[in-house]
Amino acid sequence: MSPEVVGEEYVRLALAIDQHIPGYIEAYFGPADWQEQAQTDGPRPLPELAQEASTLAAAIADAAVLDDQRREFLTRQVVAMQTSLRLLQGENMALADEVELLYDVRPTWVEESLFAETYRLLDELLPPGNTLRERVARRKQGLELSVAQLQQLIPFIQGQLRHLCRARFPLPEEESVDFAFVQDQPWMAYNWYQGRGRSQIEINTDVPLYITDLVNLVAHEAYPGHHTEFSIKDSRLAQQGGRVEHCLALVNAPSCVVSEGIATCALTSVLSDEEWVVWHAAEIFPMVGLAHLDAQRERMIELALEQLNGAYGNAAFLLHEQGAAAERVREYLQQYGLLTEQEADHMIGFMSAPLDRAYIFTYYWGQKLLEALFAGKGERPYWYARLLTEAVTPTLIRQWTRA
Ligand SMILES: [Zn+2]
Repeated sequence: MSPEVVGEEYVRLALAIDQHIPGYIEAYFGPADWQEQAQTDGPRPLPELAQEASTLAAAIADAAVLDDQRREFLTRQVVAMQTSLRLLQGENMALADEVELLYDVRPTWVEESLFAETYRLLDELLPPGNTLRERVARRKQGLELSVAQLQQLIPFIQGQLRHLCRARFPLPEEESVDFAFVQDQPWMAYNWYQGRGRSQIEINTDVPLYITDLVNLVAHEAYPGHHTEFSIKDSRLAQQGGRVEHCLALVNAPSCVVSEGIATCALTSVLSDEEWVVWHAAEIFPMVGLAHLDAQRERMIELALEQLNGAYGNAAFLLHEQGAAAERVREYLQQYGLLTEQEADHMIGFMSAPLDRAYIFTYYWGQKLLEALFAGKGERPYWYARLLTEAVTPTLIRQWTRA
């Protein structure tokens, strides 16, 4: 197979799997006739697709065909496709094995003792009260935003972050983001990339959004997070580079770990904690009548709460591996993740969706992967730019970190 044929076969196989798992491709901006053909074919026999995946894997392994980095990317992505096909054919796997084969990271239980320092810090920072979870919940009540406030704040925040992002990273000239408000979704926010530099970001208003997390949300979804990565890779790799495998995004593949790592590290890649504090005190809190908040303290609380994200993967292990009932998982998320009952239920809904049961791990392990790279290497903007512009896998990032 030539490199062009390898790319095309990869895309066609993904389109065929999407016929069995609607939503498997979360964004498609490749040739329309390939997509139409897959729709006309409908769900094809799984053994036939498994055979095509093996043939494709063998072609990718041929060192004469592709350069090393492209081969590494396609190899890991195809392992994930083969895993999805095995799961579709009814194979049972341990959750950690499923995640490792789909995402190229092996998740483990995050020991609760690691959260102890965070609880101590939160106890210091939060106003006095009963239990820590009640104190966190009471704080959130005062920070919740209405849809009208979101409509006022988001364009302002988006404009500022876009400006910072443009100064540091090679966003294409033509790109834009639209925000929309939706309900009844398993996620909190979602970036639907449409191709040609355009993204539609949907925000689920069923789940409360807080003023102290809004800049992080816009950074995560747009600048310099998901929209930035999509539009750069579409423009550079797919359009200019002719690497057609970048004309789609899969929801169960190693590229998701890289994307969520990029997105969870997005805010701190364009804004220091000091800048966050100054901006919130001077402009963002006053815009919604919360000028009395202590921005320094709020930033420290946000950073502390982020340290509890490891509890979410534990909840997935409880639910899917240990057979715990939903009530027990909800209690776990409230106790260790300090979520409200509503947030915990929403998260259980997310990790119960077939496509997302393994996806829940991509945030925490993606963030850990990138933090290790940045910590070991320094020059964070350089590495962040490489992640935004190159086809990378978790294995390659681990190699960069060790080198
Ligand atoms: Zn994300």
